[in-house]
Amino acid sequence: MHSYSLIAPAKINLHLEIIGDRPDGFHELVMILQSIELADQIDIQANSTQKINIHSNHPQVPLDETNLAYRAAQLMCEAFPDVYHNFGGVDIVIKKNIPVAAGLAGGSTNAAAVLVGINMMWELGLTQPELQGLAAQLGSDIPFCVSGGTAIATGRGEKLDPINDLDNLWLVLAKYSNLSVSTAWAYQTYRQQYSSTYISEEKDIKSRTAKLHSGPLVSAIIHKQTKEIGKLLYNDLEKVVLPEYPQVAQLRSAFAQTEILGTMMSGSGPTVFALCESEEKAVRSKHKVKEAINDPNLDFWVTRLSSGGIQVGASGES
Ligand code: ATP
Repeated sequence: MHSYSLIAPAKINLHLEIIGDRPDGFHELVMILQSIELADQIDIQANSTQKINIHSNHPQVPLDETNLAYRAAQLMCEAFPDVYHNFGGVDIVIKKNIPVAAGLAGGSTNAAAVLVGINMMWELGLTQPELQGLAAQLGSDIPFCVSGGTAIATGRGEKLDPINDLDNLWLVLAKYSNLSVSTAWAYQTYRQQYSSTYISEEKDIKSRTAKLHSGPLVSAIIHKQTKEIGKLLYNDLEKVVLPEYPQVAQLRSAFAQTEILGTMMSGSGPTVFALCESEEKAVRSKHKVKEAINDPNLDFWVTRLSSGGIQVGASGES
């Protein structure tokens, strides 16, 4: 088969803790990552040329080699030169539904879809761990995007321990269309303000990781104690993003006044999510916040948690 259509889900962070600096310049993180049903569609097709071409319906998506989907295809071409010469380059069409630069891993999940899609299209037979090994070379969130579901992520975010899926909860996401936060800025600012609290000893890092593994949020997820999950959401990056972007803080406070399980900024923001017990409650919460803030630039999505990573789309192979 020479073309595939893939569904590439976004993610939210149920927990994001920055614990130190790494020798490679990245931060040492302890996170719980969760896939959601809001997803992009990625169509890939062998084009019998030497080129990788990107097309997208979204003006903010780069169409050159800075696109993570392009870099994923380039990595596959470099890793499997003989197969590349046989099939030629790839046309990649990105139908964007996930807001861009929103803390939802939009670019990362597109790259994960391209790795999974090329693996199928070129009949490489790579296993999920092998695909995740390639994914880790491209970006910290990409290995998680390949497998999805609910997982504890450590190291740069690339070391994954899957936990019970939490696919029964709904959520509302809200983002100002005229506001985006640079992930690099958020982490640099955190380092400037909080590096005195960083730990670096291997044993301290291990004990911090173990603390999350045996801690109340993971226990609440395993036992599906939804009220507890809502109360235990955590994100260190709120400490730097909320003071700089008061609109995001205001949005979070508005959600907190509605009937939800809990609310938090996702990743480096500026998207805020609110976990809800049902679709009805998610829709009600959305309407209340919309009414309270009343800003035409504020966009909302009602969606649910998802137990899967990259999926072959409805149209499947062609
Ligand atoms: P993360 O949560 O992984 O930090 P994000 O959701 O905050 O990512 P992205 O949507 O991945 O952010 O976009 C961040 C920047 O990456 C964009 O401003 C854009 O220039 C660039 N980018 C590269 N590839 C893509 C892609 N496939 N889709 C969207 N943005 C991309």
